[in-house]
Amino acid sequence: MSSKKIETALVSAGRDKKFTQGSVNAVIQRASSLVFETVADKKHATANRANGELFYGRRGTLTHFSLQEAMVELEGGAGCALYPCGAAAVSNAMLSFVSSGDHILVAGSAYEPTQDFCEKVLKKLGVSTTYFPANIGAALDTLMQPNTKVVFLESPGSITMEVPDIPAMVKAVRAVNPEVVIMIDNTWAAGILFKALEFDIDISIQAGTKYIVGHSDAMIGTAVSNERCWAQLREHSYLMGQMVDADTAYVASRGLRTMGVRLKQHAESSIRIAQWLAERPEVAVVNHPALPGSKGHEFWKRDFTGSCGLFSFVLKQRLSKQQLSDYLDHFAHFSMAYSWGGFESLVLANQPEEIQAIRPAETVDFTGTLVRLHIGLENCDDLIADLSAAFERITASS
Ligand SMILES: *Cc1c(COP(=O)(O)O)cnc(C)c1O
Repeated sequence: MSSKKIETALVSAGRDKKFTQGSVNAVIQRASSLVFETVADKKHATANRANGELFYGRRGTLTHFSLQEAMVELEGGAGCALYPCGAAAVSNAMLSFVSSGDHILVAGSAYEPTQDFCEKVLKKLGVSTTYFPANIGAALDTLMQPNTKVVFLESPGSITMEVPDIPAMVKAVRAVNPEVVIMIDNTWAAGILFKALEFDIDISIQAGTKYIVGHSDAMIGTAVSNERCWAQLREHSYLMGQMVDADTAYVASRGLRTMGVRLKQHAESSIRIAQWLAERPEVAVVNHPALPGSKGHEFWKRDFTGSCGLFSFVLKQRLSKQQLSDYLDHFAHFSMAYSWGGFESLVLANQPEEIQAIRPAETVDFTGTLVRLHIGLENCDDLIADLSAAFERITASS
């Protein structure tokens, strides 16, 4: 792993001369086919096709190798597999390590499509899933079965933002079976605010669509693996045809260069707005990992080095249909959209039963409407004024 500070690594990682060829950024090498000059060259490329030698488009070009090298420097590990989106990274990482008859453990607060993949695809292949609650800690070992091959974590939990005690969970499941493959959806931490591989997790997965790309205009998934799991993840993902185009890989690398400063601003603004919300009479609870009192805040403080712009809060009241429209339809700076991590602020609302439907392992403990915010790079005062006006619209309509 790099001894550079993270801000410096984000700027320099993957910018070796062999990738940049005299420019600042890596070249965009678009290729399906790579040309061999001699029989000896072809033989050399074939022998090293999985180790960054130009061989065939699906194995990657200089643009992909640059991004992969950068991700490995940033997250630690032996290699980085690239996918067309975050969902593909999640599903292919799981598929790479299970066979019919196997069992996997999955965070009950994982991203909804991750749960759907287990229910709709893995189940069909004869792989069973047990979901666990976010606060299970070391008791995760009680759910291990002899055929448990994968433990899939996510921190913080999707939408409700609980931070689990990952070191306790990892230690407990490794004590039962040291070979189990532990993976994490590390999107919230952008792969750098929580250094998953340093916590004995095997594979750190990201929807690079979010903070790596950072501009809401491209989709990519990444999975950085340790040495033990790398060859299997790489070859299975390759056989399942997982690849991204060179232009998208380029855009992801470019996103890394500014990700450090973007994250700092997302964090500063989101914490300020979370603190402001915590003081509002309309708000029951604020779920921001960096805020004392948020579930698992002590684990965030111990295990993470920072925060991003995504968090949620619960209103004291359950909004009616009309109130939901009054609240959500008239924001000046917050848009309603799912894919976060861009420069822009976002808002979404869910009723408790909608969250309960995607919490297979626990009972939700709130009765008001939940609002999820992504705090973008706009001026914080403008965002607070926008949120304040939205509260007034509920009051006026109730
Ligand atoms: C968005 C997201 C994904 C899926 O990423 P896509 O690129 O949209 O497929 C997976 N996990 C988390 C936590 C996400 O936020």
